[in-house]
Amino acid sequence: MRLLLLGGTAEARNLAAALLADGVDVTSSLAGRVARPRLPVGRVRIGGFGGIAGLRAALADYDAVVDATHPFALGMSANALAACTTEPRVPLLRLERPGWTPDPSWHLVGGHEQAAELAATLGERPFLTVGRQELARFAPALGTHRTLARVVDVPALTLPPTWRLVTSRGPYTLDGELALMREHGIDVLVTKDSGGSYTWPKMAAAARLGVAVVVVRRPPAPTGVPTVPTVAAARAWVEALR
Ligand code: NAP
Repeated sequence: MRLLLLGGTAEARNLAAALLADGVDVTSSLAGRVARPRLPVGRVRIGGFGGIAGLRAALADYDAVVDATHPFALGMSANALAACTTEPRVPLLRLERPGWTPDPSWHLVGGHEQAAELAATLGERPFLTVGRQELARFAPALGTHRTLARVVDVPALTLPPTWRLVTSRGPYTLDGELALMREHGIDVLVTKDSGGSYTWPKMAAAARLGVAVVVVRRPPAPTGVPTVPTVAAARAWVEALR
């Protein structure tokens, strides 16, 4: 069983370790977005495949695919579906961690521009935790706000002069998030509905400090792909194929 594991998430790393222990020939794939990625155990390939055609060609070396990319990595998930459902088909599973259970106080929005506009009305000192790739979408609405943006790697984008950048990578702690939000006088937090526990402490800190929370809803996932919410369930799916 040669498995291609589309990764970039903690769940993908955990699944790689579990499958390796099961004796599966697993190759983890990372996009290569961050300078120093957290590497899973086992074989790793880094970089895009070159669209659907490139992925389709790469699939000649694999018997099955698990798409464990981030819930907002829609392009990769769509390509995986298209490539795996072209004849000859390759079994495809989606491993997607559940979203957070929404708190009634959260402001749920459908996109990043909407989040930016809402955050501009909710506070003076926003905290953006939406990822480097999305920051440009926040500059128009928040260009004069004293904004704190947290990213893994420094973006190429020139930030508005009122913005501060902090580079770090989760998992985070409640104490750390409380300290950061207090230090910067944060009054509105903006996040994607990433789900999971790695980045949850910022939500708990916001609740503790009475900071408004804007959550970008997940985009609809490609339909027709069997989907499981846990590493254990993904492991069982692979086991059943062997
Ligand atoms: P995306 O927009 O869905 O993908 C854009 C392109 O990047 C894909 O078409 C593919 O290029 C390449 N790519 C993406 N994931 C890949 C992977 N695992 N292996 C090889 N190529 C990949 O992806 P994204 O949102 O930029 O996310 C990139 C990576 O970061 C993913 O691995 C994802 O799990 C991780 N991540 C994303 C987020 C987020 O908020 N989006 C957060 C945390 C982690 P080709 O067309 O050339 O194959």
